[in-house]
Amino acid sequence: MTSSNIINYVVSKTIKFKVRELRKGKKELIDLALNNSINAIKDFMELSLKNKTTSNKKLHRLGYKEIVRRYNLSACIVHQSRNKASEIIKSWKSNKRRLNKNIPLPEPRAQRIRYDNVVFDVIKTENKEFQFWASILVAKRKRIYIPLTVNSNWQKSYLNDLIQEKYKQGSADLVKKGNDYFVHIVIKKEVEFKPQENYNPIGIDVGINNLAVVNVNGRSKFFNGKRAIAKKKHLNKVKAIYQNRNNLKMLEAIKGREQRYFNHINHNISSWVINQAKLLNNPVIVMEDLTYILDTTRVRKKQRYIHQTWSFRRLQNMIQYKALWDSIPIVYINPEYTSQVCPKCLSTNKRNKHNYKCRYCDYEANADHVGAVNIRKKFLESISFEDMASINNAIGFSFKETQTMNIGKAKKYATKQEGVSPPITEVKGIRNTYIL
Ligand SMILES: [Zn+2]
Repeated sequence: MTSSNIINYVVSKTIKFKVRELRKGKKELIDLALNNSINAIKDFMELSLKNKTTSNKKLHRLGYKEIVRRYNLSACIVHQSRNKASEIIKSWKSNKRRLNKNIPLPEPRAQRIRYDNVVFDVIKTENKEFQFWASILVAKRKRIYIPLTVNSNWQKSYLNDLIQEKYKQGSADLVKKGNDYFVHIVIKKEVEFKPQENYNPIGIDVGINNLAVVNVNGRSKFFNGKRAIAKKKHLNKVKAIYQNRNNLKMLEAIKGREQRYFNHINHNISSWVINQAKLLNNPVIVMEDLTYILDTTRVRKKQRYIHQTWSFRRLQNMIQYKALWDSIPIVYINPEYTSQVCPKCLSTNKRNKHNYKCRYCDYEANADHVGAVNIRKKFLESISFEDMASINNAIGFSFKETQTMNIGKAKKYATKQEGVSPPITEVKGIRNTYIL
């Protein structure tokens, strides 16, 4: 090996807690802060329109002091309101331009206050009933403590680790939903990928008939998609009905239900994969890079289906996040021929729906199994053809690629998840350290 690199990543995860029933005084203070932040956004929007500027710097100069005084808000909330106001005005203006018509100015809604790690804190108390409390700013120099609901062991262990500084704390959000309050805390840790002499690949083929086929040590585990497709088709019908009736509230509710359902499935599949990977020495997870635009019906079909039935990318993202959190490397391979090559004699055949049959030898198997086997094999072959250094480089490279291509979407997805859900890991900021 001539050169090697160690790749360092900062990965982050959002853990969500429901706030326990609050005493009346505290609830009112939080609602007041939320209301005041709406008012602050409105005031900044007015300033923005009046002075024809969406520059945060200018808006700050124009209104910061007065708005802090007017609403007695802490600096961090006023900064957010200012940024939010300029975002709203910018997107309103661009929509007006794009659609070339008069659109009413949107009403700001503030169901969320974001705190940076300086003003937000979690503490552990001797209190038997409520062990963990979040300390939040609700007004200028006014701090309150709110009890967190900690139901599961994983939540507890994250909080304990955070308090013991095994993780770094990122920003935290106080979220109001209906009459409930939630706290979303971002935790971060640095993970390191060291180049290995040999890898144990897990090949994953994502699809529709089988949501995923996972090939470990030559054996395949199938995650059948029948029920998911039926569910999706049913929900599509229901959505169409509400769409026709123009019932946006119900439409949103169904979309939420759909998202939670698929999120749950993705969570189960990805957890299974990560648990398998942990049993191996030097595991690496190999998946197809579906952003390749290739002239194969398979990929085109997959691309088309992404919006229609199942988001492959979402499942891949969830696997990737969980893997990176546990320092398991991910490689994306070019999907060319992964569905066509015979694993036994290496000749090329067209796949015939769900069954793969080789014309040259007697090999016959489930087509998705063949896909997963070939994905795994493709990685092993690349190892035997190239030296390990370049494979390790390739691993680093594929990290970068997936990050720039998909992290935006994934983030959007992650932040849409409300309520208490299993943690979703995000990848943030890449720092490569090259050791020659
Ligand atoms: Zn064959």
